[in-house]
This record gives sequence, C-alpha cells and structure tokens, in this order.
Amino acid sequence: MDHSINTKCVQAGYAPGNGEPRQVPIYQSTTFKYETSEEMGKLFDLEASGYFYTRLQNPTNDIVAAKIAELEGGTAAMLTSSGQAANFFALFNICECGSHIVASSSIYGGTFNLISVTMAKMGIDVTFVSPDATDEELDAAFQDNTRAMFGETIANPALTVLDIERFAAAAHRHDVPLIIDNTFPTPINCRPIEWGADIVTHSTTKYMDGHGVAVGGAIVDSGNFDWMAHADKYPGLTTPDDSYHGVTYAERFGKEGAFITKATAQMMRDLGCIQSPQNAFYLNLGLESLHVRMPRHVENGQAVAEFLEAHPSVASVSYPGLKGDKYHDRAVKYLGGTGGCGVVSFELKGGREAAEKVMKKLKVFAIETHVADARSCCLNPATSTHRQMTDEQLAAAGIPAGLIRISCGLEDKADLIADLKQALED
Ligand SMILES: *Cc1c(COP(=O)(O)O)cnc(C)c1O
Repeated sequence: MDHSINTKCVQAGYAPGNGEPRQVPIYQSTTFKYETSEEMGKLFDLEASGYFYTRLQNPTNDIVAAKIAELEGGTAAMLTSSGQAANFFALFNICECGSHIVASSSIYGGTFNLISVTMAKMGIDVTFVSPDATDEELDAAFQDNTRAMFGETIANPALTVLDIERFAAAAHRHDVPLIIDNTFPTPINCRPIEWGADIVTHSTTKYMDGHGVAVGGAIVDSGNFDWMAHADKYPGLTTPDDSYHGVTYAERFGKEGAFITKATAQMMRDLGCIQSPQNAFYLNLGLESLHVRMPRHVENGQAVAEFLEAHPSVASVSYPGLKGDKYHDRAVKYLGGTGGCGVVSFELKGGREAAEKVMKKLKVFAIETHVADARSCCLNPATSTHRQMTDEQLAAAGIPAGLIRISCGLEDKADLIADLKQALED
C-alpha cells in the first residue's frame, strides 16, 4: 500500500522484524564479519548486496537514504557527508575531464564555487544560464560535450524559483539529465522528479535535519534517465568498469539502480565522503517530523515577509509566497502557492549601516552562517559571506549591501514579527 508522504516521513525505509528495535539502529561499526572469503568476494564483485566497509556503505545510512528516496519518489538514494559532497558526486558521477555542464546562475555560493572553480580545474567547463532564460537561450547553452544540467528549486540565497519542467525539457532535448538541488523546499513542498528532474540532491544539513545538529547530504535517482539510450555520452555507466571487475552499471543495475550503485562503488570508494551512521540517525530523527515542521516554517516565512513588505524602512522583500513576488507564478505551480520554505530576503532603505544596526538589535533572530533550522537566524552577506566585495561589486552581483537574509524557525510568528519590529524602529 502506498502511504502519504506524512506517513513516509515517519516510517519509510525501515520495517523492523519481530523483536527487533523499533527505532533505526546505529550501526557504529567500520566493518562487517563474514564466514567465508567467497561470500565477501561476491560483495566486492557487486554480485551480492551487503556490507563490508563503512567508507562505502553502512546499514543505518541505507535505511535513511531509502526513506529519502521514497519521499522524493525516486528508485535509489545515498547519503553523503555534506550537501557539497552530494552535488559534487551527482555531477562527477557522469562528468569527466572534457565534459561540460549547463547550470542555473542562481545557485548556492558553495555550489557555484564547486562548479566554476574546483571542477573547472578538473577540466569540466560550465555555462551558466539565467533561471529566467528563454528556451532559445537554454538551447544555445548546450554543447556536444554537455553531460548534465543543474539548478536549485528555490535558490539559496536569491530565492528565485526554477521553472523545473522547462529546464527538464531543455535537458532532455539535448539528451542529458537534469539534476535539481531541492534543499530549500524539501519533498514536502516540491518533488522535482514529478516535474521531470532526473536526479535530486540535498544538503540535509538544512530542513531535513532541521535542528542544526549534523552536516550531511543526499542524492536521489529518479530511475528515469535511460543511460543506455545515450551510451556514447555516459561510458562510465554503459561500458565495463575495469576498477570493478568489468561490471557495466547500466546493464547490471538497470535505469533504476545504475547511477547510485556507480556513485557508491566508485565515488564513495575513491573519495570517501560517507555520512557517519550517528549523523544519519540524527537526520532520521529530523525526517520523522519534516512534514509537521515545514508548514510552520512556511507559515512563519509568509507572515514575516508580509510584515516586512508593509514596513516603511524596507525597500524590497523577496519571498515567492508573496503575491507580488517575481516568482509567485512559479510558486503557484511548483510550491503549492506557498513560499516553499522559511527563508526570506529583504533590503533596507538605509543600506549597509541600517542593516548592521538592525542585525545588532535582533534578539530572537541570531546572527549565524546558517539557514533552515528550528531557531530563527539572520545574515547580512555584505558584512559576512561577501565582505571582500565593494558596495559596487555587491550591487552588480545582485546582493545589495543592505540585504538581510533571514531564516524563520519554528518560534511563534508573533514573536518573530515583534523582534523585527523593535529592531527596525529608530
Ligand atoms: C547549504 C547548501 C548546500 C551545501 O550543503 P552543506 O551541507 O553545507 O555542504 C548546497 N545547496 C544548497 C541549496 C544549500 O543551501
């Protein structure tokens, strides 16, 4: 029986047998014991599934990954040590030196650096496209060596909403998969696979964990992209892997399992960005209440955005849940008409000085380099993450000096508004 997403948040991925622990056990073990070498050999040859070393796979992680796969409507998933590792693995699993990526320009700064600086050093090129690009502009960004398209459902911190269906259509016109980072809305507010995305990634550090406890990431495969139909583009999936006894992932594991199996057998084996089982356990505690928490984050974000929009000291507010927001139409289509998360950006009329003054006076909102947990927080990019830039450079990058990004937690919205109100008073 297919349960609702609410029930899946609580129970998916783990069904204990008679007399077994009700809560997901933490397999805090680096290794696993076998009776014979033949049995272990089968695991090494990927002929049997099982565990032999936690750098590649661990049962606690796999239980939690299976839950996330169900939440996103995918066929397979894996956990990584961070969201950065998830995005790197998702891309590098199908790209190599000489490949090219088409990416939305409105993405998380860490991912922007990963693609434009670090992956460039590996010989992987990128063309950035506006999240508002026309179909013609999207088509023009693709090259013969393009292997993936990348974007964020709701971009951190710009809060642009991606037209996932249109990006997926463009990716598929050029025979490459669309990878979507769905960190901000979580599968509670948007399931990109339903709109045509092929691979979904997460920084589970944010709402999925939800309590600011553990850095982590996840990759989910939709099982929809036909690697064999584009075998010339994806030799890593469609020709024998000599480093794994000649296994051809797309043949042995099909569309449903090839991507995650390769990412585990190759990327995890060689790069080792595994999530610790203890952190996977914390992540699962967060997931158990994700469906209860997300509506509250959205409710608080909406109330705060509406308050800020009406305030005389505020020049502008970005929040896709606002009727007048540039991305509200896409929020109606992809986010059920909500803001999709609790993160709100606003610009003060008084610029950098006013932002510093307001931040200093906030009490419920703490100054933090974080978003998306139970406690509300705030950040002024001009004086923190982007402090090396001049006011002119900031303006050119679309991050005015007076911009404050706030993350509305799970506190009472009346207290959040009262805190902002006193901080905005002269
Ligand atoms: C935070 C974040 C990341 C990076 O995740 P970490 O867990 O910090 O490595 C990637 N994408 C988005 C959208 C994020 O918000």
